[in-house]
Amino acid sequence: ESVINRIAAGEIIHRPANALKELLENSLDANSTNIQVVAKEGGMKLLQIIDNGDGIHKEDLELLCERFTTSKIKNYEDLETIQTYGFRGEALASISHVSHLTVVTKTRENVCCNSCRVKYLNGKMYTPDADKNAEPKSCAGNDGTQIIVEDLFYNIPYRKQALKKANEEYTRILDVVGKYAIHNAGVAFSCRKIGAKTTGSDIQTSLNASKLDVIQQIYGRSVHTCLEYFENDMRESPLAVQFEGYASGDKFTSKKTTLLLFINNRLVDNTAIRTAIEQLYFSTFPKSPKPFVYLSLNIRPQYVDVNVHPTKKEVYFLNQDLIINEIIKTLQSLLVKINT
Ligand code: ADP
Ligand code: MG
Repeated sequence: ESVINRIAAGEIIHRPANALKELLENSLDANSTNIQVVAKEGGMKLLQIIDNGDGIHKEDLELLCERFTTSKIKNYEDLETIQTYGFRGEALASISHVSHLTVVTKTRENVCCNSCRVKYLNGKMYTPDADKNAEPKSCAGNDGTQIIVEDLFYNIPYRKQALKKANEEYTRILDVVGKYAIHNAGVAFSCRKIGAKTTGSDIQTSLNASKLDVIQQIYGRSVHTCLEYFENDMRESPLAVQFEGYASGDKFTSKKTTLLLFINNRLVDNTAIRTAIEQLYFSTFPKSPKPFVYLSLNIRPQYVDVNVHPTKKEVYFLNQDLIINEIIKTLQSLLVKINT
């Protein structure tokens, strides 16, 4: 049974940046306003996320790493309407099957009792001292949650071998943190690595930064000055969608497309959207056709199918062609405006 869990977990969590994405979404779900990421050896040795969110109740710690038993899902109908990011209740469970996972957490109500430190192995809570019950261990700490993932894939050699060099994995980590920092401008994010040459933070955003501030911080000044805002609210229409974002104009020169796509606040990919945007830019700006587009799309949650791929990166949604049509129309009039 545990082998099956381990293999299944390896299909959901492919690399440190994957795990990180799930952990960031949990922190955001818990209303955090400060999220710090620390990585060692590209997150393969250590991946630590410290947030100042709601924390986890002591009673919930035991269920934390059991698949499909998360506190966010009260009953099956909730699955259809749940608004939050992850809703399959398998991220922490998966991570606990392929790493050494420690959770340190404190809710705001737990003022007298201290925070709890809990270790998990194969989805089960345990304490390192064998003769004690698997009771959460008290320790000092701040409000919020710290998730510590150590030795990712120590028990699935083929996954470990498939990973790139630490530097490359760290670049992916920075990419994920940067994109979530942009989408969640106003939440303070930081990301740093520790190791032989410990340096300062590679990403550090502040509590009151605007979206454009954060885009500039992550992608540089040259992008920032080329961007225009767009939005379209069709929540009352049969399509029931709303989208907004920033798109580059003809002043922007780049060798590759940059698309930051968030659907219902989750960083995803959608090949059809990517292709349609690339075609639009190619026909509008034949000389500098590569776009930078940040697009936040909100659709009825029950219309999004995230189960196309286990990592939930590529998604499909209902009325996809019609919705893409609306996005392209909005971008088109923006580009016309920029061009004149
Ligand atoms: P899901 O997010 O799909 O519910 P996860 O495995 O990602 O499943 O998380 C399990 C549960 O653990 C969450 O539903 C939430 O209640 C709790 N949790 C996880 N991370 C945090 C966090 N950083 N702060 C507060 N609660 C958390
Ligand atoms: Mg989650």
